[in-house]
Amino acid sequence: MTETAPVIEIQNLHKSFGQLEVLKGVDITAHRGDVVSLIGSSGSGKSTLLRCCNLLEDSQQGEIIFKGEPVHWTGSGSHRHPADSRQVLRIRTNLSMVFQQFNLWAHMTILQNVMEAPVTVLGRDRAEVEEAARGYLDKVGIGDKCDVYPAQLSGGQQQRAAIARGLCMEPEALLFDEPTSALDPELEQEVIRVIKDLAAEGRTMIIVTHDMKMAADISKHVVFLHQGMVEEEGPPDAVFSSPKSERLRGFLSATQ
Ligand code: ADP
Ligand code: MG
Repeated sequence: MTETAPVIEIQNLHKSFGQLEVLKGVDITAHRGDVVSLIGSSGSGKSTLLRCCNLLEDSQQGEIIFKGEPVHWTGSGSHRHPADSRQVLRIRTNLSMVFQQFNLWAHMTILQNVMEAPVTVLGRDRAEVEEAARGYLDKVGIGDKCDVYPAQLSGGQQQRAAIARGLCMEPEALLFDEPTSALDPELEQEVIRVIKDLAAEGRTMIIVTHDMKMAADISKHVVFLHQGMVEEEGPPDAVFSSPKSERLRGFLSATQ
């Protein structure tokens, strides 16, 4: 493990669901402080790639390297699985995922939602976690919602709570899967604001998004996936202003 190693590096990743090959040799790298956006049509493999990054999905071939530490595999092909459950836990807790549908626990207050994993999974001191959790809820602008339940919040507030929950794990990187897609347009902006603030702080993030404006504003690198392959990638200026591939041009004009 070295300081200069990327936080997450994916090399030649292949992933199938049964006969359906969804990722066909994908490479993606995020260094510390990078914001990498993943764009592409529905079904191109964006969510699957993100879920492979933090080992929520198995993959059949290729490497996943977290801070210079390759995932250890056992078996091969459709029988390949991570070999070391402690390594899986370490990687998963260091790559916090924020989902489209928030995935808050309905029976817990917002504060309990944010505190749950740091206390139960990481075994951190409850009082310290509570102080940190309140801080992160303040940071995302819902410090006054600690004691209410998710159903009492708007979608935008719920997603901000989910972001606070991710931050409270003190992860190396945040992975966002279409964090604003479930929100009404007027609520999207409050979540985009929070994500922009995190980018400005130098947080490492991989963001699957349909929001080309946000991707253009905050990304260091943009990756366009097409049918499980990286069709084109580069800095946002190049990808959005002078796309080379016909497919990317078509995709961008359809999302205008
Ligand atoms: P995207 O996020 O870009 O819309 P996904 O990664 O969700 O794409 O899906 C890529 C392909 O994999 C799609 O054809 C989808 O139907 C398929 N897929 C995703 N998850 C599963 C699953 N759990 N079982 C079978 N097929 C799946
Ligand atoms: Mg998806």
